[in-house]
Amino acid sequence: MKSFDVVIVGAGIVGAACAARLAGEGLSVLLLEANDVATGTTATGMGHVVVMDDSEAQFALTSYSQKLWKDMGAELPGGCEFEHCGTIWVAADEEEIIEVRRKKEFYESHNIETEILDEKRLREAEPNLAEGLAGGLLVESDAVVYQLTATRFLIEKASKNGVVLRTRTQVKEITDNGVILKNNETISAGCVINAAGAAAADLSPQLKIKTRKGHLIITERYKGFVRHQLIELGYLKSAHGNERDSVAFNVQPRSTGQVLLGSSRQFGAETTEVDNKIVRRMTSRAFEYMPKLRTLSAVRIWTGFRAATPDNLPYIGKIPGFNNVYAAAGHEGLGITTSLGTAALLADEIMKRRPSIPAEPYLPSRTHSEH
Ligand SMILES: Cc1cc2nc3c(=O)[nH]c(=O)nc-3n(C[C@H](O)[C@H](O)[C@H](O)COP(=O)(O)OP(=O)(O)OC[C@H]3O[C@@H](n4cnc5c(N)ncnc54)[C@H](O)[C@@H]3O)c2cc1C
Repeated sequence: MKSFDVVIVGAGIVGAACAARLAGEGLSVLLLEANDVATGTTATGMGHVVVMDDSEAQFALTSYSQKLWKDMGAELPGGCEFEHCGTIWVAADEEEIIEVRRKKEFYESHNIETEILDEKRLREAEPNLAEGLAGGLLVESDAVVYQLTATRFLIEKASKNGVVLRTRTQVKEITDNGVILKNNETISAGCVINAAGAAAADLSPQLKIKTRKGHLIITERYKGFVRHQLIELGYLKSAHGNERDSVAFNVQPRSTGQVLLGSSRQFGAETTEVDNKIVRRMTSRAFEYMPKLRTLSAVRIWTGFRAATPDNLPYIGKIPGFNNVYAAAGHEGLGITTSLGTAALLADEIMKRRPSIPAEPYLPSRTHSEH
């Protein structure tokens, strides 16, 4: 029986980032995955690497993580499609322009450059947007990445530093001494990281995670149809609301020329099948903002499950009741962005170093109200 410094459960982008980081610190790491690499929520996300301003803690983690993506940018192979397309938060009317100004003030006070676009500038920046939209806020520093190849890149980086990957290996139980597999094999470890995504609470019921289903649509190739990630300003209402079902206009240019269209959020929808009613709501919303989207051909529609926590912040750090078990889960719609920051925070905690950003807001021991 071999003992590892760290066993990581789950080889989505979060587990892969943790493996790469901890192996880079010189620790011996075993990465266990029930299926195959990046076949969970990571396979279904949108890849927007975005700095969010909805809370100071969300800002700290997303901006720290975005910086880590940029630092790694030169290493990322072309297949990761890491591109600085920027985000435009689209304001439909004058009332939303007030929110544009508030957002600008927030970003500027946190050293993120932004530009307010009036109606004319917005149309110049994105000619396919509907006429009559009031304007928007351009955040140039945001990026997109193709998260599947990025996860594989992180795993390769980890493997070069000696990480052992075992796929098709399901963990049944996590203890302070290691893990017990479904086939009852025990593996001992100095510490265990639960990075099992939407299934993390099955192994650690202390984590309050609920799944939130999302739909995405991808089109054929239409080079230049969209230039920036475009999101309606009402997006946060959808992301943070407790409504059972919600949709928001959110469109992403892929380097292939394809257009990736989102997004929906549904609590209590547990099956993977495409819900045509939700897709119709999503597309109607998108056509209001970008009427010419109607003329594009979609090639695929799929669904995925975000791992949502009651306060919209992930669980990063030691799980209460354990000495050696850590969580890296509950990243909702931001886990691709925050995977690198999560890994860095956990490495600092495990190596007993001072973290680059305060770790307290993400600790699983924090108290928050139930969903
Ligand atoms: C529609 C949609 C759009 C999104 N858009 C964005 C976006 O634009 N930007 C962004 O930053 N994020 C986005 N996200 C969120 C992002 O995709 C997730 O937060 C992220 O992929 C989560 O990664 P993960 O590694 O935690 O989970 P997962 O990818 O689900 O990985 C967890 C892994 O653990 C494995 N596992 C589970 N249980 C066990 C067990 N018992 N034993 C062994 N292995 C186990 C699973 O098989 C899985 O592979 C989006 C998500 C959705 C659904």
